[in-house]
Amino acid sequence: MSSDDVAVLLGGRLAIDFANIPSYPGAPAQHLSWEGLIAFLEAAKIVSAERGASLLALSGSDPDAAQTLLSRALRLRDALRKAFGAMVRKEGVAREWAEPINQILRITEGHDELVFEGTSWKMEFQAREGGLDWLLAAVARSAAEIMVEGAQARLRICANPGCGLFFSDNSRTHRRRWCSMAICGNRHKVASFARRQAS
Ligand SMILES: [Zn+2]
Repeated sequence: MSSDDVAVLLGGRLAIDFANIPSYPGAPAQHLSWEGLIAFLEAAKIVSAERGASLLALSGSDPDAAQTLLSRALRLRDALRKAFGAMVRKEGVAREWAEPINQILRITEGHDELVFEGTSWKMEFQAREGGLDWLLAAVARSAAEIMVEGAQARLRICANPGCGLFFSDNSRTHRRRWCSMAICGNRHKVASFARRQAS
């Protein structure tokens, strides 16, 4: 597995993490591999490790099916990047960016389920098991919720201009600036320290 295939979940919401893949702090990328998509689905607990392993094998046993899902995932991810980017800049979301989300919502059946998360409960969409399209159902649902929430979703983009990762600012003070304090935050601190030393 290459570094491209490591899914880093720092967005705080499923659809935000999906918009960021393949993601590692400081380096968002355009290319998405089948392995990268499956790694994300596993990391986000949409599929189990066993199901992930059988999905990985699908690119050999049924390459057309794998390619169809990968194309649909890419279309969804790129639409989310555009829509979230517009939301961060407080611009309107174009109707065409909602279409890849609606396309998946249309074929999705499932139910909401209460999930306990350490200190609080949240509602989580459980897609009914089925064909490959269902793998993206929870992501589409999460994206739709974020778009409906609008400004309340507190969608932000990392303050490192070279980074580009999205996150939801659920910090208490609502002043989170970095995708990851450990990577982009520190890089900024080191750079401004160096600037101060130089001047
Ligand atoms: Zn960053």
